[in-house]
Amino acid sequence: MISFEIPDRITNEVQLVKMVAEQVMRPKSRYYDEHEHERPVEYINMMWQFLRDQNKKRMQKLMSANGHGNGSKPKEGFDFAVLRLVVVVEMLSWGDAGMYLCTPDPLLGGAAVEAVGTTEQKIRFLKRFGEGDPKWGAMAMTEPGAGSDTSGIRTKAFLDPDTNEWVLNGEKIFCTSGGLALDESDGFVVVWATVDPKAGRAGMKPFVVEAGTPGVSVVKHEHKMGIRVSDTVSIVFQDARIPHDNILGSADVQQKGANAKGFQGAMKTFDASRPAVAASAMGVARAAMEYTRDRMAEEGIVLDYTKPLHQMTAVERDLMEMEARQRAGWLLTVRAATMMGYGQSNRLEASMCKARAGETATWITQKAVELLGPLGYSRDYLVEKWMRDAKINDIYEGTKQINLLIVARSILGYTRKELK
Ligand SMILES: Cc1cc2nc3c(=O)[nH]c(=O)nc-3n(C[C@H](O)[C@H](O)[C@H](O)COP(=O)(O)OP(=O)(O)OC[C@H]3O[C@@H](n4cnc5c(N)ncnc54)[C@H](O)[C@@H]3O)c2cc1C
Repeated sequence: MISFEIPDRITNEVQLVKMVAEQVMRPKSRYYDEHEHERPVEYINMMWQFLRDQNKKRMQKLMSANGHGNGSKPKEGFDFAVLRLVVVVEMLSWGDAGMYLCTPDPLLGGAAVEAVGTTEQKIRFLKRFGEGDPKWGAMAMTEPGAGSDTSGIRTKAFLDPDTNEWVLNGEKIFCTSGGLALDESDGFVVVWATVDPKAGRAGMKPFVVEAGTPGVSVVKHEHKMGIRVSDTVSIVFQDARIPHDNILGSADVQQKGANAKGFQGAMKTFDASRPAVAASAMGVARAAMEYTRDRMAEEGIVLDYTKPLHQMTAVERDLMEMEARQRAGWLLTVRAATMMGYGQSNRLEASMCKARAGETATWITQKAVELLGPLGYSRDYLVEKWMRDAKINDIYEGTKQINLLIVARSILGYTRKELK
């Protein structure tokens, strides 16, 4: 039986994060929304200090672990890392979902290294200098011809036998934090490329491309509807050479239908990253829900949970529905993270929580704008911003439709080919 209580050790740790969300993020939320692409330096500096300490502890644990990585999980007991991550991400996104994406942390790139890297690669890429310094990371999978259908990836990698280096050529688009990761001297992007275009998903491999690599150029910064402070970039690779051991996992192409080895690495990454995206969605949803509830309370509308449904006003019913969806989305997220902490497979639950949380955040923030009227629509307040920020959670890390497909396949026992 899995308990959905958040342990005290995490609740206590998150108090500091709450302070950052309230005192550093919220006051600057509107400013950075209106000054798209400007870096939130106050936030970055504060999180840099915070993560230095956290990272140091994590690395000490990793270095004392036996054997080589490849996502090894504790055989017994509970690994708090993923649950702690979702609680922290939820709180930071309550502060500002876009600013959270500027955290000096490997984020999605880190999830890929954690999922498929060896222990040596985790130590090397998640902390380079041995002093617990956090570093930026990003993950580039999407291409102009490959979004939901990743088998269309055209970025190629080949091994130059003379130098024993991988050579990358191609273009990636919509890479979150790719600008930060490649601008900063200690950042990296995990790039998915094919080592065998004929092999489809089996040929897809993740490569760590470090900042400063010649032949790597950021060619576009997207202008966006929401999370505008977060940088989203297009990257071109022209004969970009990277060391042989910057490939995560094996270079072998093993074709086994839907279980093709290459794509399994991507799926393992999503098992960890989808609960984090769901948590971010739930942070935005909670911000909108709490704000609406508080403004309503000022007007004398306070929920009475003992009141029969037919005696409630439409507004009260909407408020209750917001709360119920918020709780359901959060519980699904906590379940997916908790299962991972116990070393259980959470693929189905990761997709479930991601699909539901993205949809929930979109619905709750729109409902907040609707219930609050002009106050919800005005740029004097943050509600309209939360509505714009929420929508991305329905799109990246697999759209809602794609995650629902994964859920349906898993429950009904269909293969990728049988249910498209
Ligand atoms: C702000 C932002 C940040 C991003 N960050 C990253 C990042 O860091 N790294 C990265 O690699 N990518 C990133 N992406 C890309 C994102 O993951 C893709 O946009 C997403 O996977 C969808 O791909 P697509 O845009 O090509 O849409 P398509 O795949 O063309 O889909 C279009 C629509 O069709 C639907 N659809 C597609 N196939 C099916 C199907 N089989 N059944 C039902 N419906 C279907 C989709 O759900 C969607 O609604 C980001 C995107 C945005 C907007």
